[in-house]
Amino acid sequence: MDGDKNDQSTVKAAVIGGGLIMVGALQACYLAKRGFQVDLYEGRQDIRTVEEAKGRSINLALSVRGRAALHHVGLEEEITAAGIPMRARRIHNRAGGLHNQPYDKDGQAIFSVSRRNLNEKLLTKAESFPNVKLHFQHRLVRADLDKGELQFTTSSGDTVTATHDITFGADGAYSAMRRELMRGNRINFSQEYIPHGYMELKIPPTEDGGFAMLPNFLHIWPRDEFMMIALPNQDHTFTGTLFVPFAIFEKVQERGEDGVIEFFTKNFPDAIPLIGEESLKNTFMSTKALPMVSVKCYPYHRKDKAVLMGDAAHAMVPFYGQGMNCGFEDCVVLDEILNKHNNNFKTALPEFSQVRSPDAQAMCDLALYNYVEMRHLVNSKLFMLNKKIDDFLYWLLPKSYMPLYNMVTFSRIRYSIVISKWKQQKKFVRFCLISALFALPMIAGTGYWQRSNLSGHRRFNFHWRNIRWEKIGSKQR
Ligand code: FAD
Repeated sequence: MDGDKNDQSTVKAAVIGGGLIMVGALQACYLAKRGFQVDLYEGRQDIRTVEEAKGRSINLALSVRGRAALHHVGLEEEITAAGIPMRARRIHNRAGGLHNQPYDKDGQAIFSVSRRNLNEKLLTKAESFPNVKLHFQHRLVRADLDKGELQFTTSSGDTVTATHDITFGADGAYSAMRRELMRGNRINFSQEYIPHGYMELKIPPTEDGGFAMLPNFLHIWPRDEFMMIALPNQDHTFTGTLFVPFAIFEKVQERGEDGVIEFFTKNFPDAIPLIGEESLKNTFMSTKALPMVSVKCYPYHRKDKAVLMGDAAHAMVPFYGQGMNCGFEDCVVLDEILNKHNNNFKTALPEFSQVRSPDAQAMCDLALYNYVEMRHLVNSKLFMLNKKIDDFLYWLLPKSYMPLYNMVTFSRIRYSIVISKWKQQKKFVRFCLISALFALPMIAGTGYWQRSNLSGHRRFNFHWRNIRWEKIGSKQR
């Protein structure tokens, strides 16, 4: 299917997935702006009509890539205004000590935003376009993508079939669209579960209604093998997320409530009064830790008929706070490519796969790397020294040197280029350090030589079994 700018209104586009998060809802807005007739299908109920939305983490870190995507549909300001800026990591050590690691020399922040608010705003935005129809409780079960035939089951158990010219699959890490796309197509696919699970723990406000910790930080309790983080919410609570190997979760839960308190007393003693003993025991004993998966695939598309986006194309572990940001950026990248190809899906979709898949795969790798940095490296003196060197070089050479975190979080540099730049920069730092190591003795030696040749001085005098400084009389040239 191809089209030029004049016949978009006859193109019927389906977007699968628009509930829990939002890549689908955002993509529906992007397509509506281009003039397509859009049907957004979501397996769940409309989140705006349910009291408590079940699902993944309550809040998320929104950064530059996600903001740029929201900007295009006029939502950036509204969403960031309702978010809480976090300008640094605040590290809680085992003994209760605290220190900060700012994210950016110019004070740029990432924003803690409510998943629910973001989702509601996006759905309302999508609904505001006359050419978008929302269909909740429509779960995709089968698709003949070449014919554009999509089969859904509804909440009443009925089967509904709809036909579309093109289908966008944004139905998450366990995507039904991806399964349908892979049927009979040569699609490379891999997935990796990490041995860790996660569990959310609520930190309530203080008695007088304030935040229990400083709000403008992403709080981290790094404990090498595992960690806890906490992000602030608008209602003055924090959502803590504990990331621990499943084997440890199981061991602690087997030992019952005493095991929970013992585990926290040993590893996160300052978090016990923040969460509250009772709440901690209740949550731990009544909740199952959830898994985290990393998904890579290539290509993302089938002819000019179907394409994957968001977690359906590239789920990643959450340690860089980029899953949603990357998914939102997919919408921008595809939009730019559609502009370039004048809405011709036949040429635009292969380019999208070609450009986006290596970038998303790079981000999946970086997300795995950042888990080691967050739970382990931030504790290390060498890491701190490296960060100081990184920040210094960034200050000295702002146009050519940028620390890894800043490239990922505060820029729109392609993720694959971020990795190659990072590698080059690491080589550069290593070269500088080695040069400094050689240069220091040379500088010291030159200084010493100058002093000893130009004026009264001390000279290093070597005696067998006895190394000592010896005063030598002044020497004239
Ligand atoms: P999803 O959010 O999974 O949405 C898919 C939608 O499709 C759902 O509503 C689902 O109901 C629907 N669906 C599924 N199957 C079907 C079907 N067959 N038919 C119809 N509908 C269907 N990212 C960040 O950028 N920053 C963060 O700070 C961050 N923190 C995270 C913390 C945790 C603990 C986790 C697990 C993830 C985090 N992420 C974060 C990642 C982020 O949550 C995901 O990348 C994002 O939700 C992906 O959005 P999506 O729309 O692609 O998929």
